[in-house]
Amino acid sequence: MKNKTLRIGIFLLTVGLLLLQFGELIVLGQTGLMEKISSLLGETFTVEFLGLITQLLGVISIVTGFVLAVDGVIAVKIEDEIRGVEYRILAGVEEKINKALTQHELNIVHRIPQKTCKFCAAPLNANDIFCPSCGRSQQ
Ligand SMILES: [Zn+2]
Repeated sequence: MKNKTLRIGIFLLTVGLLLLQFGELIVLGQTGLMEKISSLLGETFTVEFLGLITQLLGVISIVTGFVLAVDGVIAVKIEDEIRGVEYRILAGVEEKINKALTQHELNIVHRIPQKTCKFCAAPLNANDIFCPSCGRSQQ
């Protein structure tokens, strides 16, 4: 959709430039073709008039093409931005899921009953023989 707008814009820009160039050639009287067309159309359309009309069409085409091209570029940028936001949201969700999973794993680890001192109930490491708090042997 957005690329189509951009392509149409660039196409119109190109056509407009060609028309402008062609119109200039007609006005300068360098195309015998237009003189033939003009003579077929009769006196209502002079070569200069046809040249000016062609140039005018060229200018309109250029302006339209330019507007469409800019519009297309802006549309592309907006789409990229939306994609960026989507990516950031997804990254945020992923981060939250990972955090939740880590927390869940930690909870599982914490649920393993911890060894405590037989005498003072201070927490012990798995291979502590003496209590770090009261110093009494656990064996
Ligand atoms: Zn103890």
